[in-house]
This record gives sequence, structure tokens and C-alpha cells, in this order.
Amino acid sequence: MQRNRELAIRIINILRIATKHMPEPASAVIGQKFGNDPYLILISCLLSLRARDAATIPVSLALFKHAKTPAQMLRLSQAQLERIIHSIGFYRNKSQLLHSVSHDLISRFGGKVPDNYEDLISIKGVGPKTAYLVLAEAFGQQALYVDIHVHRVSNRLGLISTTTVEQTQQELEKIVPREYWSAYSRLIVVWGQNICGPISPFCSKCPLFDLCKRVGVTRSR
Ligand code: SF4
Repeated sequence: MQRNRELAIRIINILRIATKHMPEPASAVIGQKFGNDPYLILISCLLSLRARDAATIPVSLALFKHAKTPAQMLRLSQAQLERIIHSIGFYRNKSQLLHSVSHDLISRFGGKVPDNYEDLISIKGVGPKTAYLVLAEAFGQQALYVDIHVHRVSNRLGLISTTTVEQTQQELEKIVPREYWSAYSRLIVVWGQNICGPISPFCSKCPLFDLCKRVGVTRSR
């Protein structure tokens, strides 16, 4: 355990430098552009489900020209909403989700995004990854959010050995020191998007190569 804690900190320090010039994840882009507005970060996160950041960012920006609050979102009809976000996958389901989440925020939370996990997760359509991401990126809390990148890369590195995202969350929370939770998630997401992709990771140019067990990697570049 101690060895893996030290390894996690080394990985974070290396990735802080290595990711400096890489594109930021959608949540960070939206956060910087809109002053870490929790509602806009939440909405962009819901749009990003099963979509790439390259698709999420322009659709989010287009949507926020029409609606930046739950009340404004509800003033858009489903048809209008679908037209605005149609270039993203699952746009019909997502437009319904944006309406239902906005409605929930108004009816239960006075139109504000709650700043705690229990309330966030109680909103229909908000899962653990989205809840933790909002806590980290919008409210500046230490939160470990686990998406497919964090799950895959953490296992390849050999930091953990898990089969589900839920297990990954539990194991990483034991290994990664709390003060690094948000940084670890953000850095590993960027690494998974740019270097340690699902099919053929760029191991030959990876500064983590000497630390990485490359678990399950059969093909690399
Ligand atoms: S060495 Fe390869 S498998 Fe390990 S983190 Fe780097 S890219 Fe991923």
C-alpha cells in the first residue's frame, strides 16, 4: 500500500509536467470559460456521457448561448434543445435528461447545484462520476472521479487490480492521498485521452514507462 501511495504521487508529479501542453478536459475548459459555474459544469458533464470532449465542448458552448440557468433551460422546448445538441451522441436522451435535471434543481434545490455528494447523486441521471467531477471542478473539493480512462490507466499502471469502476473508486481512494484526488483524476483523464488510449497506447513516448506494469497491454506504439 505504501509503495503504491508513493508511486501515485510520483505519477502525479510526472503527469503535471507532461500534460502541460495537452488539451484540457471538457469540464476544465467550461470551468475556465464560465468561472467554474456549477450548473454549466454539470450540464457539460451530462452532455459528455459516452461522447468525446472534442464533441462535448462545441455543443456545450452552443447550448450555453441559449441557456445558462435551469430556468432558461426549461424555457427551451425539447425540439429546440434537440436541434441545438443534435451533433452529440444520444442527443434525444440527453435533451430529456437536461430538462429533468434542471427541473429537479429548481423544485428541490432552489435552482442551485448542491455542493455535496448525497444531494447530487439523488438527482435522477446524475451518477457517481458526474457527482464527483462536479464536486472537484465546480466546488474545488477533493474528489476522485472515475471514468473509463481513470479505470483503464490505473489498472494498466498496476496501481490497482480491479474489474469495475466502483472497485476502482474504492481502491484508488485508499491508495491516492486525499489531497491529490482531484489532480489524479484530471491528469489521468488527460493521459487516457492523449497517450494511454484504449487500443494502442503510445508507450514508446510515455514518461511513465519505467513505472508502469503495462497490465493487459498487448499492442502499443
Ligand atoms: S507506459 Fe503505456 S500503458 Fe503505461 S501509462 Fe504509459 S502509455 Fe499507458
